[in-house]
Amino acid sequence: MNIRIRLTLLFMLLVASILLLFSFSVYYLYDQFRQQEFQQRLEEKAYTMVRLREDVGEVPQADLPAMVDEQVTIYNSKKVVVYNRGNQRPRFPVSADFLNKTALGQPQYIQEDSIEAVGVRHINLRGEPLLIIASGKDRYGFSKLGRLREILLFGWLLSLGIVGIAGYLFASDALRPVSELIAQVNSISATNIHQRVYVGRQSDELADLAHTFNDLLSRLEEAFILQKSFVSHASHELRTPLTVMMGHIEVTRLQSRSREEYEVTLDALLDEVKSMIRLVNGLLELARARTDTAASTNQPVRIDELLWQAQSLILHNNPDYQINIDFENLPDQEEELVIIGEGSLLQTAFQNLMENGCKYSPDKRVSVGISFERGQVQITFTDQGYGIPRAELSHIFEPFYRSESTMTIKGHGIGLALTQRIIELHKGQIEVKSVVGKGSTFRVTLPIPYGSKADSDDTYKSIEAAKTDS
Ligand code: ADP
Repeated sequence: MNIRIRLTLLFMLLVASILLLFSFSVYYLYDQFRQQEFQQRLEEKAYTMVRLREDVGEVPQADLPAMVDEQVTIYNSKKVVVYNRGNQRPRFPVSADFLNKTALGQPQYIQEDSIEAVGVRHINLRGEPLLIIASGKDRYGFSKLGRLREILLFGWLLSLGIVGIAGYLFASDALRPVSELIAQVNSISATNIHQRVYVGRQSDELADLAHTFNDLLSRLEEAFILQKSFVSHASHELRTPLTVMMGHIEVTRLQSRSREEYEVTLDALLDEVKSMIRLVNGLLELARARTDTAASTNQPVRIDELLWQAQSLILHNNPDYQINIDFENLPDQEEELVIIGEGSLLQTAFQNLMENGCKYSPDKRVSVGISFERGQVQITFTDQGYGIPRAELSHIFEPFYRSESTMTIKGHGIGLALTQRIIELHKGQIEVKSVVGKGSTFRVTLPIPYGSKADSDDTYKSIEAAKTDS
């Protein structure tokens, strides 16, 4: 069942229930009114009869307007019938209990099938109490009630039909933009992912939906393009060293070489193979960081240990690098240094930032500072290197992006993309500030689950201090 039909049916159900309630109320109230009115007429009839009988002695048959199946019975105080009028049918049967209640003075009412009766008490001129039971059939009242019932039923059915048609038209009109939206969305595929949906009404929920969908399309398009360029960049990065290696091998094979020449060629090949391994490892790490499986292996890890391990690994491979980490202002409580995450991934991220700081600085030096805020740790990696041009700052986190100015330095452009992904995976942030010719500062912020240290200037590790120390 589509939404249009469901809305129409719901609308009909609602209106039908309201109308039904209204009709029942009208019918019930009118029935009450009819009953009261007839009761009054019966009481009047009973009193008129007894007074006429007292005044005139006998009640003239044709003088009073008669009701259908009318009958008036008068009982004396001993409940013996002293007068009965109305011969069309047997006397209206009243119970002794009914007569007793009437004798107390309150007018009584009873209905049996379509016959209604009223019992009243009257004190005659001699001071004797008389009980008068007047009964009859309210033919006109019931026929009016029947007519009212027909009118209400007919009116209810008619309004139901009108409500059904109006509800369907209303639902169709309200849902037209949705149908248009569906048609537009259906026309978008991988070949025209740049296309966006259009909704005329500018400020309603459907416009919001269209905007949300357009935002989603933009993100998908971005990811799609990134994916496409990622594959071509990866192929290119892998083809370059392979071409270089092929060149080396072909040139070497042109003639027989001396042992030294073979060694030189093999060293060159080894360099290229190492570079390829680094690239492939980087790509694997990136793929690993992109899946959320990494998050499932989360464990408590100490920030200072990760930094220290990253530092010693880099210095082992590059003894000419200088990495100064300020461990002086660490918090007293050990748990304030612990974050929840994947240790090996975080270490890779810190390694990339330290390595970049040294790699892109003539003095091959980077200062690492740690500061703690309430529930957060900030780690800064500062170098006084070449810096990054402002226009390139927004691109350096894209996979395979390399600045023109640093093309001569070895690299594949994977490191920062991987680092950013790892930090995001740990619900952290990475920011960069850089001035060309002066240096760059990368700042990583990560949440500390157990930390509660209050903000204090003393807890900050100043980058300047780190530089002075070194
Ligand atoms: P790679 O270092 O392998 O080229 P990255 O993703 O680590 O790849 O870095 C991307 C680019 O960002 C680098 O090519 C470089 O131009 C620039 N960059 C990164 N870190 C720094 C830094 N500390 N100083 C200057 N430029 C940097």
